Amino acid sequence: MTGYAELAKRFGTPSYVYDLDRVAAARRDLLAALPEQVELFYAAKANPHPELLRELRGGEGRRCRAEISSTGELAAVLGAGFPATDILYTGPGKTEGELTEALTAGVRLFSVESLGDLRNIGAVASRLGVVADCLLRVNSASASATSSIRMTGLPSQFGFDSETLPELRDRLLDVPGTEVAGAHFFPLSNAKDEDSLIGEFRHTIEVAARLQAELDVPFRFVDIGGGFAAPYAVTGNRPRYGALRAALEDSLDEHFPGWRGGEVRIACESGRYLAGDSGTLLVGVVNLKESRGRRFVILDGGINTFGGMSGLGRILPVSVRPYDEGAPYEQIASLVGPLCTPGDVLGRDVELPALAPGDTIAIPNAGAYGPTASLLMFLGRPAPTEIVVRGEELVSVSRIRHVRDYEPAQEL
Ligand SMILES: *Cc1c(COP(=O)(O)O)cnc(C)c1O
Repeated sequence: MTGYAELAKRFGTPSYVYDLDRVAAARRDLLAALPEQVELFYAAKANPHPELLRELRGGEGRRCRAEISSTGELAAVLGAGFPATDILYTGPGKTEGELTEALTAGVRLFSVESLGDLRNIGAVASRLGVVADCLLRVNSASASATSSIRMTGLPSQFGFDSETLPELRDRLLDVPGTEVAGAHFFPLSNAKDEDSLIGEFRHTIEVAARLQAELDVPFRFVDIGGGFAAPYAVTGNRPRYGALRAALEDSLDEHFPGWRGGEVRIACESGRYLAGDSGTLLVGVVNLKESRGRRFVILDGGINTFGGMSGLGRILPVSVRPYDEGAPYEQIASLVGPLCTPGDVLGRDVELPALAPGDTIAIPNAGAYGPTASLLMFLGRPAPTEIVVRGEELVSVSRIRHVRDYEPAQEL
């Protein structure tokens, strides 16, 4: 951790430091926790930094595929070397323009969220003379585990309500330019423990098998979703999933007997587990103040830098790591950013070491849902610097910049 102070001094704050060795370790650990045949999709929204994408893509052996939801992410993953055939395109509002771009680039696997979405995909695919493999995203009527972000069983813009699928069957199978290849589930994020994760996967696999029978369509591809957890802006380690592999094998053997031979491809997805612990946010202390008995540490980066949750009105459970790991905590204070809004709070009642203006603090486990999940443009401060290292080696330093493009005046 000695390097942080030096990096902060050299490249300034706020800045993110991502360690590619940690990305590689997360990918290795998660792949090892899954049966060999199960494919792993990286959800680019967690962190679309080019070097992280390249690292997750990997070289030899088992690789990650990419799950994307925009033309920006499409360009990012193609640029990082993911072949179009390894991309899954998801999202409830796919426009004609983006479908044209994705299909033209060779993407053939789509998660579909409604009959209208399927027809839109089919129209573009037909025009281009291709067929898109479509996974019916299922909003299951039932759920198993509890989780922090539950996306299933309730009214939602995501997916088909599972109970409506049998009656939609004939219409779904009759959309030119598409083929119903299987199903896609994403019932939870950030499962609280391995038992809930396994419970949810078992339930999903069961629902998928039942759906296949009800629809009487052989599934070639079932994406059973994710829920792999990671600490977010607090100290701690990624969980290890020692029992998952055997549990998945057991459940898949029971419900999709052809899975081992590839008769049906099985996939999982993860964002935070793969990227989360690779990143550390370095923010500088600009000022300290007290107001009516409460202490505030004013930082040079707030929700414009790290706004994944606080930008949505939720406060992150931020914990701060002093450089000197052994240094005692000396105060409790609110960590606030520089923006002119009372909402610019990174954490309340955070335990902090003694601090003075000019100091830098490190927020750990900030590699997922960092800059691109923040209010980057709000109040016009520069985006944070993003520093990529591989262990001790410095790989790259970059910063996102916003540029306003004008339409040429003669066309107005
Ligand atoms: C956001 C998202 C993910 C990634 O979620 P994590 O909690 O970061 O693993 C995966 N799949 C879909 C469909 C998503 O929307």
